[in-house]
Amino acid sequence: MSRVLVVEDERHLANGLRFNLEAEGYDVETLETGDDALTRLAADGPLVDVLVLDVMLPGKDGFTVISELRRNGRFIPALMLTARGHPDDILKGFAAGADDYLTKPFELAILIARIRGLLRRRDWWRTGELPAPQPTTSGAREEPDRYTFGKLKDKTVDFNLLNLEVRGQRFPLTLMEANVLRYLIRHEGRPVSRKAMLEDVWDLQEGTDTRPIDNFIVRLRRYIEDDPTGPRHLLTVRGVGYRFIAVPEAQR
Ligand code: CA
Repeated sequence: MSRVLVVEDERHLANGLRFNLEAEGYDVETLETGDDALTRLAADGPLVDVLVLDVMLPGKDGFTVISELRRNGRFIPALMLTARGHPDDILKGFAAGADDYLTKPFELAILIARIRGLLRRRDWWRTGELPAPQPTTSGAREEPDRYTFGKLKDKTVDFNLLNLEVRGQRFPLTLMEANVLRYLIRHEGRPVSRKAMLEDVWDLQEGTDTRPIDNFIVRLRRYIEDDPTGPRHLLTVRGVGYRFIAVPEAQR
């Protein structure tokens, strides 16, 4: 049975989620603060499979909680609950390391579907087994699940397993890190604007703060660049955005 940890200080909402998720067959724990969540997840105890995390919490907020978890190498699938009317929070949550989000108020059926989606991805991750390829009408898959780059072909991103292997070292990616990388790779060699990334990767409108995109790039550079301060693959295009280069010039 999968265990969901709900971190939400509005008690009626937390109780409602518990009731309904238990009815769906999940084990549910609820906590009211970010500090309690970090303590719980650092402690021994039944393994938590999915974290449902409110942004607005007393003490440490949801962004802080998720970024602390990721910094400590904890890649538990996490869905953030953001307040309506704060589109910047969505990107900020993804930049902090969230895998998915829902805007309050949300429909329960949608939350349950999202939790299932996160659990499915976690299963691929754990077993290393890929889900069965979905047959398409053309009989071909649209994009490969793995992409190898670098002159020595020593860097591979696996979009299904959500990890990146660089010179034999493996880094887990959040879903959004993988999506950002996939988007840049799809436009290999061409500049991609922050605005386009915002719209195409996050489905957010212009006017949203684009700085969190830069945080993603900083993190991805730490994984894939030999020298993250002198990037060769993930280049900044001044005043525009970014450009991905599979095999940097000097290495061709
Ligand atoms: Ca709250």
